[in-house]
Order: sequence, then C-alpha cells, then structure tokens
Amino acid sequence: MDVLIAGAGPVGLAAANVLADAGVAVTVLESEPRLPENLRASTFQPPTLDMLAKLGAARRLIEMGRVAPKVQYRDRAGWLAEFDFGAIADQTAHPFRVQCEQYKLNQVLAARLMHFPHARLEYSSEVTAVEQDERSVTVTAGARKVKGAWLIGADGGRSRVREALGIALGGFTWPERFLVASTPFDFAAVLPNLCDVSYFADPVEWFFLLRVRDVWRVMFPTRPEESDEEVLSDEVIEARLQRVFKKAGRYRIEHRTLYSVHQRVAETYRKGRVFLAGDAAHLNNPLGGMGMNGGIHDAFNLAEKLAAVIKEGKPVAELARYERQRRPIALEYVNTITIANKRNLETRDPQEQRRWRDEMTRTASDSRLAREYLLKISMLASLRKAAAAE
Ligand SMILES: Cc1cc2nc3c(=O)[nH]c(=O)nc-3n(C[C@H](O)[C@H](O)[C@H](O)COP(=O)(O)OP(=O)(O)OC[C@H]3O[C@@H](n4cnc5c(N)ncnc54)[C@H](O)[C@@H]3O)c2cc1C
Repeated sequence: MDVLIAGAGPVGLAAANVLADAGVAVTVLESEPRLPENLRASTFQPPTLDMLAKLGAARRLIEMGRVAPKVQYRDRAGWLAEFDFGAIADQTAHPFRVQCEQYKLNQVLAARLMHFPHARLEYSSEVTAVEQDERSVTVTAGARKVKGAWLIGADGGRSRVREALGIALGGFTWPERFLVASTPFDFAAVLPNLCDVSYFADPVEWFFLLRVRDVWRVMFPTRPEESDEEVLSDEVIEARLQRVFKKAGRYRIEHRTLYSVHQRVAETYRKGRVFLAGDAAHLNNPLGGMGMNGGIHDAFNLAEKLAAVIKEGKPVAELARYERQRRPIALEYVNTITIANKRNLETRDPQEQRRWRDEMTRTASDSRLAREYLLKISMLASLRKAAAAE
C-alpha cells in the first residue's frame, strides 16, 4: 500500500520525493485543480538548501532566485548590524539564503515526482475524512476512498487531516495582520549599504525588505482596526512605501498580500498511522523565514523514517522519534525566535531598543558570537538539537 500525503505544498512534495527516491510507492492528494501560484514564503535557509540538493532542487532555486549571503538589522537613524553566512561555510554546502518564491519549488518538486512510476500526484482531490485501523488508513478524497499504509497530513494551516483527528492547535494569533507588497523599485540604489535581506526596527511601524529575483518584497504590520480594503488600497500601500523611502512619483506595486499571523503548535504530531507536518503541525510569524523551512525539515525527517521502516525493516517504534525530534523545535526554538524577532523590531521602550541594538552590535562584531548567532538563525542549530533528541 502507498504512503498517502494530503497536500502538494513544499512539505508534501518534499516528503513525496524523499519517499519516491527510496522506492516507496506514494500518492499525493491535492485539493486544487493545479499547483497554486500564490506568493507566500520566499526564504530558503542553508540547511534546507543542503536537503533540497539531494533532490536536485537547490540548484534550480539558485538559478530561479537570488543568492543572499548576508542579513542585516537596521533602524531609520542609520544603526546597522550585519551578519555574513560565510562565517558558517564549514557547516553547510550553502552558506547563504536563497530568495525565491515557494511556488517555484513546488513546480520543480512536482515535475520531479512525475518521473517515478511508483508516485502519483492527484489534483482536485480534497481530503475530507480520515479513518484508520491497525494496518491501514483510508481517506475520503472527493467522491472516492483511497487506502494507504500511512498518511502524512501536509495540508497547510487549516489542515482537514488535523481536524479529522481532533488534534488541537495550541497557541495564539496576533491581533495585527502582515501586509507584503512587491515593487520593482530598487531600494539598494537609495538606501546606503542595503543587503538583500534587511529588518528595520521602528517603534511606529517596523518593516522588512527582501529582494527576490526581479522585485523587492516589503513586509509591514498593519493595525488591527484597519480594514482589508484600506490596507490593500493603492493609497495606503503607497503611503507605507513612502515611509520606507520618500521618493518623487508613485511606487509600482506588482503584488500585495495580507495575512493573519499565528504562533501555534499542534498538541501532537501523530495519531496512529497519521502524521502532521509543516503548517498543519505548526504556524509562526514569518520574521526569520522559519515556517516553510521548518516544514521542509519535518518532511525530510519523517519521510526518511517512514522509508527506513517500509524498505529497510526498521522497527515501527522508530517513527515515534519524529514527534520527539520535531515538536520541541517548533515550540522552543522557532516560536521563541520568531516572537523575539517581532518584539525586537516593534518595541517602543527606549531601554529595550537600546539593549537589543547593543546586543546585536556586540554579536556582529565578535566572530565567535556571530557564528553562534548564524547557526541559530540559519536553523542549523535546531537541526542539531533535533538530531540529538532520542
Ligand atoms: C498568505 C500567506 C503568506 C505567507 N507568507 C510567508 C512569508 O512571507 N514568509 C514565510 O516564511 N512564510 C510565509 N507563509 C507561510 C508559508 O507559506 C508556509 O509555512 C508554507 O507554505 C508551509 O508549507 P506546507 O506545505 O506545510 O503548506 P501549504 O504550502 O499551505 O500547502 C498545503 C497544500 O495542501 C493543499 N490542501 C489544503 N487542504 C487540503 C485538503 N483537505 N486535501 C488535500 N489538499 C489540501 C493546499 O492547496 C496546498 O497546496 C505564508 C503563508 C500564507 C498563507
């Protein structure tokens, strides 16, 4: 029987490719009629690139995206702390981030999957119910029932699989939503020493500048009382961009997205023969680029374990390590770091502002501290911690 995967996002497709590579029959059930092309995450961290390289996908991301060797923290007054991933070049084959739209990875992984005779990707197949016994799991997908040996729920933040299993998603949702606007305007030409990934602290309205191949993506928090219509209007986006850099004439806006931001982790990642991975298992704010990356790390961890059980006869008990390794990372590591990132950028307390800026300046100027910091923000440290957990 196949391993079933609900959801053809980056997590479901990465897991499917790892399983297919190991010779495991796999069926991916995707609710949409084709791969969605919406703008969501765009940061690929060094260890994620190391993993995706095994699928030949890191090279494709580098070709389609932009290599970002540095990250900066700044403020409007000119303070700047910069970190260069080159300092961890002995720990990763990819000492940089790659900035590329996540749907492009999905296209690469889906095309690769189609080369395996034992892999299937079925569109317009929304999973709506899950039943299981000791030997198998059966999902309802549209009008049919599909039976498999195991199921991975990689069906995103509103996971039907998670709902069908009755697993609660503990945590909270921030009152403000985040707006992302893309523009071809070249901020690097006007903001001195700007690198491709820059977080700007500001007590009135922080922002985050990130360059993908052809455009800059600018992220802002919005105020809870602002309506969708207001936030997404040309005038309001223009005013926000003019605060980033005041220029003559209007900004050309190519895309705009507004979304709710959560800090939530599922109470368990497994029930019987069903596992949760990626956004179905954990959600966090995007400051630090850890959500999709953490999900891809889940996918590799789980798919490698499933392949070892199915193909190498490893004991089924091995699968219990997935939750023990990955859930604490989402709770103690990704959640903690992304919440701290948001607080540091938005704080209005002058003492807190000074403390954080001093700490970042000291960290950036001390090679040992900078290296430790880079291991943390690149997520290499989280993977080591997970590997050490039995
Ligand atoms: C609007 C938005 C903007 C975002 N922007 C950023 C950002 O700027 N930076 C950042 O780091 N992260 C961002 N994220 C988060 C990031 O996109 C996710 O962490 C990442 O997509 C997780 O991948 P996934 O495969 O777990 O889930 P998804 O990418 O959500 O994939 C789930 C897939 O499952 C399918 N599906 C859903 N329900 C079912 C079902 N019942 N049956 C079958 N298939 C189903 C969906 O169609 C989808 O293809 C954003 C998320 C959203 C929603």
